[in-house]
Parts: sequence; structure tokens; C-alpha cells
Amino acid sequence: MRDTDTNTGWRGAWLGQSRGAVFRGYGFARRGRIGGGLPRGVILGAAEPMLRDYGFASEPTADSQQPTANSQQMVPYGVWVGGGCTLGGMGFRNIRVGSLLGIPILINPSWFILLGLSTWLLATRIFPEMLEDASTLTYVLMALTSVILFFWSIVLHELAHSVVARWYRIPVKSITLFVLGGVAHITQEAKKPLAELFMAAAGPFSSLLIGIAFIAAWYVLGGRDPGGADARALDLVLLWLGLTNGMLAVFNMIPAYPMDGGRVFRSLIWLVTGNHSVSTQIAAWTGRGFAWLLIALGILAALDVDVYVAEPGFGALWLVFLGFFLENAARQGLMQSRYVRALDQYRAGELMLTNPPTVDPEMSVASLARGVLEINPRVCYAVEAEGRLAGIVSAYQLRAVPEALWDRMTAREAMVPSSQLQAVAPDRLVSEILLEMENRDLTHLPVVREGHVVGIIGRDRILGVLKQAGLIRGM
Ligand SMILES: [Zn+2]
Repeated sequence: MRDTDTNTGWRGAWLGQSRGAVFRGYGFARRGRIGGGLPRGVILGAAEPMLRDYGFASEPTADSQQPTANSQQMVPYGVWVGGGCTLGGMGFRNIRVGSLLGIPILINPSWFILLGLSTWLLATRIFPEMLEDASTLTYVLMALTSVILFFWSIVLHELAHSVVARWYRIPVKSITLFVLGGVAHITQEAKKPLAELFMAAAGPFSSLLIGIAFIAAWYVLGGRDPGGADARALDLVLLWLGLTNGMLAVFNMIPAYPMDGGRVFRSLIWLVTGNHSVSTQIAAWTGRGFAWLLIALGILAALDVDVYVAEPGFGALWLVFLGFFLENAARQGLMQSRYVRALDQYRAGELMLTNPPTVDPEMSVASLARGVLEINPRVCYAVEAEGRLAGIVSAYQLRAVPEALWDRMTAREAMVPSSQLQAVAPDRLVSEILLEMENRDLTHLPVVREGHVVGIIGRDRILGVLKQAGLIRGM
């Protein structure tokens, strides 16, 4: 995640990955606002879970379930509206800069802080110390080249996670660069320990290969001693990139969940014990311990104690910040595994609403909505046309329709059409259904047995289970 440059105490960039299908928004009953989410993943990039937890204003209200053609595209989980994660929540939207292998590459505005800081440190401190008597322009060009190539390295690191995820048929939504590095938004957790192992290890492994490639390039181009009198700017840039990527690989392999190494660690325990939950607990506690260690080291360094890994000032601050970020993410990982354990006691058939009221597709929203929302804020209708499920219209869709349009709009126009719904079987695990809802931004799914709709399962019921178990509040 970060590299270590002992000259400055600047520890580089975080790389992260997260498979973060987080259950977004378990607080939505609180007036449709999302209170947070369950991190599903990993950070090897602490980032993702956090982003989602704190971010993602996936209000299951308005647009997300409007029956428009692109409701599947939804808003990229760009909006990190603050919450716990200090810097993550800057409230800006991610900027899409292109795509690789069909995966959108996004930049969070917080990333520009990292870009500016790294360029400045390289141009004013690191390179001038290594190469004397060069012009300012030379240092700036060296710094810019290094930083740009380094960020490409981070994208490649995330891409490596993503490619392995896809190999296991797990969709990848995007790769995002942000202030602590990068994250790949991988939509599900691995189902098997080996898949988890390969997915997590792919990132640091690619960083290692990239590092070796830069060192090899330096060697091929003369391999001049960076301290020697004949050292060129090019030698220093290549060496810096090689070492930084190498250290990134090493740092990320520290067995502290949710970093890549922690995920590898978890997959190994999982492989041995066969117990996903226990392995998550062990790896997450290791991660929290490591995070506290970072915070302690940062505080000591700030007090001018020589801790070897950071200097007072910026390096110390960075350690503390990173420590808090990791601690938060590890804790989210723990919570999530508790949620899954609580939910896994239920199947769809046990929580579904049986015999939901049915309405005619041509019925106006006015007659659906008037009065009903007050009496039953969780109302949900199955819209049937010719004896078949045409869609689902719940309070979320109804609220999304301005009252002025109620008389003119029909249930068919307001509903989420069945083409966008995924039918679930009555014995499907509720934790999987919640994940499905999160990924597709849906609040209700039809429960189907032998081709017949036997009920509707709502996100609010599932979250009700978590609330009953004392795992979430505020619904
Ligand atoms: Zn990674």
C-alpha cells in the first residue's frame, strides 16, 4: 500500500482492493437514508469497504428504482458522503477517466491530494537529495514521470485483482484511485478459500513484477550506481519506481486484514478450518492490532521518538491516518461477518411477504399511494398483468413520484419491471439475497417456487433481522 522512503518518512501510496459488495444502506428505513453498509471485503485496500460504508448514498428512494431504462447503471458509487472515514468522505463525485478491459477507471477528487503531495515531495526532497546540481525543471519532470508511472502501477495492481476475480466469475464494477491508493470494486466475496487466496495475492504479486521490471529496465540501461557521479535522472526514476513498487508489494502482504496479506492470511485459515466466519474474525483482529500499532508508531514519531518508519511531521500524521483507516475497515469486516452469520439462519421463504396485495397495471398511482403510505410505510404491491408478475411497486417507487403526477401515472409506469428483478427461491439464503439487492440497487425481490410467485422479500425485513439481533441501529 505504501512504500517507504526513509528519506522523508513519506510512505507512499496505498493500494487497495476491496471486494466490496457491501450491503449498502441498512438504515434505509430511517427515511430512506442509508446509514451505512456492511463491508464485504477486503481491503487490500482498505478502501472499498470504507467507501461504501461511508459513502454511497444509495438512497433506495428516488431514481434508483425508477423504472427507466438505465436504472441498472445507477449512480457510480462515487458519492462518499462522509461519515466515519475522514478523507474518504469528501462528498465529490468520482471522475471517470476511461476504462481497461471493460472496467471503468475512476478518480476520486481526494486523489489529487496524493498526486500533489507525492509530486512535491519527489521534486523538492527525494530527487534533489539523490541527484545534485540538476535544474528545478529536471526535478519536476522526474517527479511527474515517476508519479504518473506509479499511479499506472497502482491501476495495474488493482487490475490484477480484478482479472482474477473475473476468472472466478465475480463481476468487477470499477477501479478507483483515491487519496490512500486504489481500490477495485469487486462485487462479491470469493466462495472458496483458494479463489480468495489468488484474488488477494494477485495484487502484490503484480506490484512485485512491476517493481522487477523497472529494476530490470534500469539494469539494461546501464545499471549506474544512483549515488555515483555519472548517475542520470532516468536511473533515479527507474530505481525509485522499482523500489516503490517492491515495497508496495511487501507492505500489502502484511497479514493484517483488510490488506491483501490479511486476505491471504484469512484464506489460509479458511482453507485449514473450513470456517469462513472464524477465519474472518482472526484475520480482522490481527488487522486491528496492526492498525493500532501504526497509530501508536505515528503518535510516538510525532512526539519525536525515533520509530524508524516515520519522521515527525507529515510521516507521523500519515501513519496515524492510515492506522485509523485500516482499523475502521477491519472493524467493518468483523461486523459484516456477524451480519452474515445472523442472516444465514434465515431463508427467503421465512422472511417473505406472502400473498402480497395485487393491483391492476392500469391503476393510477394516486389510488395506490393515497392514504396507504401513512398507514403502511413499507407497502409493496405485486403488479400482475394477465396472471403474470409484471413488476413490483413499493413505497420507494411511490414516494419517488411527485404527488402532482399521481393521477396521471400508472402502476406500470412507477413499478420496477420484472425484467429488472431477479427471482429468488424460497430456500435461498437471506444474506445472499441482501447482497443481490445491494448490487442491483433493489429493495424487493420476488420469491418464486416452480414458476409461481409465492411472495416478495423486502430489504427492510432482512435489515429487521439484523436490528433484532442488535447488530444495527437506527431503523
Ligand atoms: Zn491489492
